[in-house]
Amino acid sequence: MTKTIFEKIIDKELPANIIFEDEKCIVIEDISPKAPIHLLVIPKKPIKMLSAMSEKDQALLGHLMLTIKKVAEQLDIKDNFNVVINNGEKAGQTVFHLHLHLLSGKNFSDLLLA
Ligand code: AMP
Repeated sequence: MTKTIFEKIIDKELPANIIFEDEKCIVIEDISPKAPIHLLVIPKKPIKMLSAMSEKDQALLGHLMLTIKKVAEQLDIKDNFNVVINNGEKAGQTVFHLHLHLLSGKNFSDLLLA
């Protein structure tokens, strides 16, 4: 099967600005930022999308959320960020390898929840 862009970044076959990495995930800068800070938190396990996760991924999902907390603390944005997951093509997902958008420095509240 062909690798997604994110698998290639994880495997260091494509360049990216890596902010954080551990055995379970990688955090990179989005190539086309929609906010002053726009990072992508990507599990190394190639899960297609949130709705493809199963019960056995529970700890991984928690790890991704806690990674966001850790990175937000490091960047001094811990009280000022949004997390977005686009799930499926109709919801705007373009890369079919699960990723969480971490956005800061722009107010999305009207757009997302109005
Ligand atoms: P989504 O539309 O939710 O699937 O998000 C995919 C995100 O990946 C978009 O915000 C793109 O700007 C970003 N993206 C695509 N290619 C790259 C890349 N090579 N490096 C970093 N971010 C990328």
